Amino acid sequence: MKKVIIVGAGISGLTAGIYALQSGFDVTIYESHTIPGGASTSWRRKGYLFEGGMHWLTGSSPKTPLNKLWREVGALDDGVHVYNRDPFFEFEYNGQTVGIYRDLDKLRQHFLEISPEDEKEIINLCKDIKKFTKIDMPILDIRGVRVKKMSSVSLSALFGMLPALSRLSFYRNQTAKEFSQRFKSPLLQLFIQEIAGSDNSAIAMAVTIATFVSGDGGYPEGGSLSMANRMAKCFETLGGTIQYGKSVSKVLVQNNIACGVIINGEQIPADAVIVTQDTLVAIDTLFDSPIREPWAEEMRRNTKPVLNTFISIGVEADLSDIPENVTFVPDEPFICGGITESAVQINNYSGYKGYAPKGCSAITSVILGDSYEYWKACKENGTYEAEKQKLAETFIRILARKYPQTDGKVAIWDVATPLTYERYLHSYKGSWMSMMGKGSKMKNYPSKPESIQNVYFAGQRLMGPGGLPAAAGTGRKAAQLLCKDTDTVFQGNI
Ligand SMILES: Cc1cc2nc3c(=O)[nH]c(=O)nc-3n(C[C@H](O)[C@H](O)[C@H](O)COP(=O)(O)OP(=O)(O)OC[C@H]3O[C@@H](n4cnc5c(N)ncnc54)[C@H](O)[C@@H]3O)c2cc1C
Repeated sequence: MKKVIIVGAGISGLTAGIYALQSGFDVTIYESHTIPGGASTSWRRKGYLFEGGMHWLTGSSPKTPLNKLWREVGALDDGVHVYNRDPFFEFEYNGQTVGIYRDLDKLRQHFLEISPEDEKEIINLCKDIKKFTKIDMPILDIRGVRVKKMSSVSLSALFGMLPALSRLSFYRNQTAKEFSQRFKSPLLQLFIQEIAGSDNSAIAMAVTIATFVSGDGGYPEGGSLSMANRMAKCFETLGGTIQYGKSVSKVLVQNNIACGVIINGEQIPADAVIVTQDTLVAIDTLFDSPIREPWAEEMRRNTKPVLNTFISIGVEADLSDIPENVTFVPDEPFICGGITESAVQINNYSGYKGYAPKGCSAITSVILGDSYEYWKACKENGTYEAEKQKLAETFIRILARKYPQTDGKVAIWDVATPLTYERYLHSYKGSWMSMMGKGSKMKNYPSKPESIQNVYFAGQRLMGPGGLPAAAGTGRKAAQLLCKDTDTVFQGNI
């Protein structure tokens, strides 16, 4: 039995490990943190559970091909309840609220009520959303791999996607902000910009809405860490080992063949190594010399990382009267990491069991933006902790004016900066996805270098824009490449 080492027990590492074990390999994962999940994580403080990763899971719907993959790796099963929040996202501005409803007719009507003068644009957008609901991430087998059971896309699914393909370039070639200018209503304009980021291409916004409208994008009970724990259990039940608190410093390579890893100066032999640390960092740090192949240079040149600062607070009040996911314009400047935010976003977990002590509520806020250098400078000049506190206090003050029921009730706050994510994930600037700017297409980087044999890559960075589906998809692909190179039958499909 061939021995495989996987670097990292995030979603891609666990996925690769599960498929490799099922296919007969002897697999050990080395994970630098003390828990599985990587960016897909949550943490407890004083009885509050703060969801720090997944806000929605593409593939949570049994109708999607990805759902089968999530079930194969134990992320989902019949016992896991999936919350399909409706409306999924709400945006408030000037006393008006707009949301993403999961029923397309209701959504169209809702937009029309908000802005009858935008009728033409609303109807066109909703028509396109309907087309985009037919786009699913296909789960395919790589060319040349022997599989126990083939994974295929039906002809009707392929034909169903055709109308969407003709509309992709329209959305891809403009930012969400540019697209929003087609609408007269300032509320709809800001809403469109907030859904997936104003500088992202408009395709991200349209596909995000389509995900919810198609009945997908639910939140599995227990969230990120529970999902990671289920996958880790599935991996261990199949006979795999996870060694926590072990940071891989180098992949051992002899005569251009990977033959193990180095941890704390100790050489650990293996027949193959799957690297799931952020590929953008791994290609520069995990090998004796950086990987300089054209795809690696392109990744270095073109990656626009998605990173965030994360605020979580525990409130000693039942906030079930506040929407579950709402974004609003603050009444005082909200500056995070040197960037003035146009809006404040909150996730309210008061409706979820086990997220807070009785009668209390867990609230989180994801503040997207590249504030890495700002926080790094704070760390260096000794103001890091004070800046985090200032940010939390501003957030709590803004929240108390918006929702007076939170005033004076905050029992605990916590701020994670891009430096926190970098420390835990060893990813580029602490990022966990890549931006798809105007004109950019979905990116697929190779899962193995040409210059070194028996080493494979997996993880969000390989399949832009990334996220959980990319992590799982590339993990499965790495396991298939491993099977192909060793003439092993891939056993994955159940
Ligand atoms: C706030 C937030 C919200 C998000 N929301 C969503 C969402 O709603 N939907 C969605 O699809 N995605 C979401 N994501 C993104 C998603 O969580 C990530 O894209 C995904 O988890 C990445 O998985 P990965 O396995 O590629 O990488 P990672 O999660 O980064 O896993 C890599 C693992 O490798 C370990 N590691 C790194 N280097 C080493 C080393 N040298 N030695 C040993 N171990 C090492 C790390 O500790 C980590 O556990 C969100 C992320 C965040 C942070």
